[in-house]
Amino acid sequence: MQVVVAGGAGFIGSHLCTRLVQQGHDVVAIDNLLTGRPANIAPLFDWPSFTFIEHDVIELLPELGAVDRVFHLASPASPPGYQHHPIATMRVNSEGTRRLLELAAAQGARFLYASTSEAYGDPLEHPQREEYRGNVSSTGPRSMYDEAKRFGEAMTSAFARAGVDARVVRIFNTYGPNSDPFDGRLVPNFITQALRGEPMTVYARGRQTRSLCYVDDLVEGLLAAMECGEAAGEVINLGNPEEHTVLEFADLIRELTGSTSPLAFTPPAVGDDPQRRCPDIGKARRMLGWGPRVGLREGLLRTIEYFREELTKPRGRACAS
Ligand code: NAD
Ligand code: UDP
Repeated sequence: MQVVVAGGAGFIGSHLCTRLVQQGHDVVAIDNLLTGRPANIAPLFDWPSFTFIEHDVIELLPELGAVDRVFHLASPASPPGYQHHPIATMRVNSEGTRRLLELAAAQGARFLYASTSEAYGDPLEHPQREEYRGNVSSTGPRSMYDEAKRFGEAMTSAFARAGVDARVVRIFNTYGPNSDPFDGRLVPNFITQALRGEPMTVYARGRQTRSLCYVDDLVEGLLAAMECGEAAGEVINLGNPEEHTVLEFADLIRELTGSTSPLAFTPPAVGDDPQRRCPDIGKARRMLGWGPRVGLREGLLRTIEYFREELTKPRGRACAS
């Protein structure tokens, strides 16, 4: 198949492109490198079936020929990243989503929109099921991301109702190699701080929770959601339901890196920090036969090895810098 991955030079997008070329597809990654990194896709240029187009998906798309699948992953994703690029974040999830849906409609292609657990805001229901409508501030410090993603979901749903084979996945916190060591998220921050022997910045008292999914598992979920005909017009949570406090993640990363970094309790970098987050993945299990397989320790050890190597290199572009 001919597969378009918008956001293909990003953390998740680069893993998705790799899996797709390994499966034998022709893959076109479209990315404006706003938060993505060329190094993420450098190994993919060894594959003649991989093409990279540096392009902003808000703008008129280049001629792509026949297209069978469109994955829309293009968007800043880290809280400091979307705070730094608020208008670009809103535009790529609204105007960019429309452009990519129009491409899918014109080509009769399947479409997948990468939404987020942030669509639930600071949830009042736990764990979060797809039916839960969320607790989101339309004007708060995360609103440029949360509301843009909710709008993107609405746009995808409108095209699905009009007959496009489109689905929405709500991705919960995902980690692994190719994530930007300096993008300000929990795993990159804690691992880089621990490896450098710097204080680990635990926001507030670290009692807020997250559920971390290893990127290989997430990518299998994206592929399963795209290839499931029953998923057309549906919204599906993808994540790992093993929930821990931020403090527990800090302690585990300190142990796995063998670090003696102290914990530094500091104010959150971005306000409106959701206090509990954990996916109910019953729908993904039933509909897609999908569930995470990589345990937290194993996933973190693989990620630590990646960051250890990254930190020996000269610092590249980082969205949060
Ligand atoms: P990322 O920032 O590493 O990747 C996003 C990519 O999109 C980057 O390469 C960036 O340059 C590109 N991009 C941004 N605006 C663009 C535009 N206008 N045109 C073309 N390309 C553009 O982030 P990620 O963690 O890989 O996230 C990928 C997707 O998954 C995002 O849509 C994000 O909202 C969603 N998501 C991620 C997580 C997570 O934990 N990583 C959680 C929930 C949702
Ligand atoms: N966090 C933290 N220290 C950091 C980075 C993040 O305590 O250096 C916390 C943050 O307050 C949040 C959780 O870790 O409760 C996850 O943050 P992240 O930025 O990774 O993603 P979010 O889930 O907020 O989108």
